[in-house]
Amino acid sequence: MKIAEFVQTPFQQNTRVVSCEQTGKAICIDPGEESPEVVEYIEQNGLDLAAICLTHGHLDHVGGAAYLHDRFPEADVIAHREEAELYYSLPKQPMLMGIQPHQLAALGMDYAEPPKITRFAEHEDVLEVGELRFEIRHCPGHTLGHIVLVEENERTVFSGDCLFSGTIGRTDLPGGNFQRLIGSIRSEILSLPDDFTVCCGHGPDTTVGRERASNPFLSM
Ligand SMILES: [Zn+2]
Ligand SMILES: [Zn+2]
Repeated sequence: MKIAEFVQTPFQQNTRVVSCEQTGKAICIDPGEESPEVVEYIEQNGLDLAAICLTHGHLDHVGGAAYLHDRFPEADVIAHREEAELYYSLPKQPMLMGIQPHQLAALGMDYAEPPKITRFAEHEDVLEVGELRFEIRHCPGHTLGHIVLVEENERTVFSGDCLFSGTIGRTDLPGGNFQRLIGSIRSEILSLPDDFTVCCGHGPDTTVGRERASNPFLSM
């Protein structure tokens, strides 16, 4: 498994292209913004983009889905059913954050309609990408339909905005619920062994063991 990371948007979101080194099949997890750099990376490495996989529907995670899907129209667009409403509201999301319509273009937030979800991710689905196997886990609490992806052989979990190094996702946005998020992290992420790498939606990678031992939100 090879992971290329691109830090995107004013929110410093980690967009990743994750590829199978044996077959060249790849997925993009959370394309945050229109990014020629991501397209070039895929093309120059001869990767076959099988899917655009969205951990959740916030603009910093899906703002580049339309651009990427235009270049790779064969790629599936994957998200949880309970996230569809938030995802399709992308063009309106900046205004809900208090950004004025006339500021959108300058901020790169004048979003087009995002591409249709072509495959709903269900809890415990397995997404096969070449020889990689990503298990989907529904992990609500930051949003209603947030998912994380677990690659067991590679000892890695892609945690989106559920769990970060030393902290957790915010729960004050629509669909957020603190108790539900803590419960999701415990059942879907802390149930993994300590050596699993956690690739977070923002900030540095961490491990399950480190968060279990020292994350202040998880020691309560
Ligand atoms: Zn988010
Ligand atoms: Zn985010």
